[in-house]
Amino acid sequence: MNVNAILKQKGREVETIRPETTLMQAAAVLAKHRIGAVVVVDGTNKVQGIVSERDIIRVLAKTGSDVLGHPVSSVMTRNVISCGEHDTLDQLMAAMTTGRFRHLPVTKNGELAGIVSIGDVVKYHLAEIEMEASAMKDYIAHT
Ligand code: AMP
Repeated sequence: MNVNAILKQKGREVETIRPETTLMQAAAVLAKHRIGAVVVVDGTNKVQGIVSERDIIRVLAKTGSDVLGHPVSSVMTRNVISCGEHDTLDQLMAAMTTGRFRHLPVTKNGELAGIVSIGDVVKYHLAEIEMEASAMKDYIAHT
């Protein structure tokens, strides 16, 4: 299974914010949509960074709640690793394990085209394993 197949099922909608959005507003977006990270884009929808709940918790613990009025650009990760539509589940798992993050924006021709979370990866990986097991049982029963 690849990213294209995952996005066909889960959809291509991605929550985005602009760099000047405050951390308080970013936290509200995460809470409202029950997501763990939000992609930061500029006016032309180009990816500028990513902010996860971990970034907000870390800076809150370090500097206190005044930081909630600061722009997300002050804490976002700028070097965003993204994936392409043809990447496989195995490649996504490898990228998340190596990078120690749980979100991978999908880009197509340089534009944001979706997002895959570790929850999606686990869900579709399990579905794949179940399909293989069922095919194997079927094969054994009929030979
Ligand atoms: P997460 O596990 O996604 O909550 O993120 C953990 C850390 O990795 C945070 O500092 C995020 O800003 C960062 N991060 C999340 N996703 C990515 C990504 N695709 N590329 C680079 N950094 C990321």
